[in-house]
Amino acid sequence: MQEINNLWNIILEKLEFSVSNVSFVMWFKPLKIVDFSDNNVLYLAAKSTFAKNQILKNYFDNLKSAVEEVFGDNVDIEILDPNEEANYISKNHPTSAVKEVESNKNPFNPKYTFDNFVVGKCNQTAYAAARAVAENPGKSFNPLFIYSGVGLGKTHLLHAIGNYLRDANPNMKIKYVTCEQFTNDYIESLGSAGKTKTYSEFRDKYRNCDVLMVDDIQFISKKTSTQEEFFNTFNDLHQFGKQIIISSDRPPKEIETLEERLRSRFTMGLIQDMQPPDFETRVAILRKKCQIEKYYISDDAVSMIADRIDSNVRELEGMLSKVCFLSSLIGKTMADVDDVKEAFSDRFEEKNEGGSNADQIISAVCEYFQISKDDIVGKKKSKEIVEPRMIAIYMISEMLELPLVSIGKIFGGRDHTTIMHARDKISVEMKSNRKTQTFVNEIKKMLTSG
Ligand code: ADP
Ligand code: MG
Repeated sequence: MQEINNLWNIILEKLEFSVSNVSFVMWFKPLKIVDFSDNNVLYLAAKSTFAKNQILKNYFDNLKSAVEEVFGDNVDIEILDPNEEANYISKNHPTSAVKEVESNKNPFNPKYTFDNFVVGKCNQTAYAAARAVAENPGKSFNPLFIYSGVGLGKTHLLHAIGNYLRDANPNMKIKYVTCEQFTNDYIESLGSAGKTKTYSEFRDKYRNCDVLMVDDIQFISKKTSTQEEFFNTFNDLHQFGKQIIISSDRPPKEIETLEERLRSRFTMGLIQDMQPPDFETRVAILRKKCQIEKYYISDDAVSMIADRIDSNVRELEGMLSKVCFLSSLIGKTMADVDDVKEAFSDRFEEKNEGGSNADQIISAVCEYFQISKDDIVGKKKSKEIVEPRMIAIYMISEMLELPLVSIGKIFGGRDHTTIMHARDKISVEMKSNRKTQTFVNEIKKMLTSG
């Protein structure tokens, strides 16, 4: 199967030359081999039905000829959408071969390297710490704890360390998991029939490594037995000088229900934050991305994107590929500011029902709850103020999709994590609490009725 994947990569390389870059990135790169065990039919999985249809309609000939060049001309190609893929897999269980590849495969995204990470004021210390750890695992900062808001490069840095270590020392045992995977692994190891055996497998897996990375540790909150297990794993590894690297969307002191002893373990090494990039760094990130993905886009257009999205690199990148995609759909060779405006226009329509701005939302919330604007953006902590404040934060972030940092500024310079907590709290309540739903809906009505 490994060989098939290598051959598939050769097919991809051929396709890269036969279609435009954007088409390649949009349609072909995401394709995955599902099965080729009979050597007659190549089953490929597309990311969506739309993607499948695009390929069938516009690019099937390109695909067919690239496949024929590599596999010969007696191979049929079947493209499956996600539903069909699930059906296929449950009926045919083709995955023994595929799974093997999956489990052996490099867990690190080859694009998430140090070289591809743009360093600015916002992240230079975290970058330097990550590099130090990669160059001297177990010896510089242990653990290394990196935190930031979403989409600011935590996972990228963890993978960069992983890629670096793998290159420098192919025999090193590096374990990378999300907190969720760790939790699930642990729970599974307790639940199944051959209990002791699977638990010992779990132990081996996590304690037999030279470097352990756990991404998004904040999800460990509340799962006390998992915390206990992680605590023990941590101690074992740390004691033998094994490197531990952790990422989180907030500092340890803000992870609710994190046990004190675990919190204090985290402070043994270095706790380092990353902030949203400034304008110049955002431009540099976009340029880097263009270079990697071979996008063609004017300088003005890049600046415009960097100007309009200021807190989340993932969104920044998403907007860049959307702009280039829209531009390629109408046959342009280089994306420009018109494409940027176009790309932003539906984003605005989707999100901003009624065309309100932050000020109008705040006014409506204040009017509804009969409190003053000074109070809602101020420091008071009484319940009568805090609840409206959180609702206003939630509504602004939902309706305007403003970056957390900007919302923080509106609310008297509050930190982005505070804003995030408020938003998340209300969004949970919106699913479970009638009263909150009524508040929000009535305020929305006030906004749309002018
Ligand atoms: P997080 O884990 O913090 O939510 P990610 O590491 O997933 O964020 O980053 C989101 C996207 O932004 C990724 O594609 C990543 O490569 C990119 N990215 C984030 N920061 C940078 C940076 N400083 N330079 C280049 N790309 C970045
Ligand atoms: Mg991440």
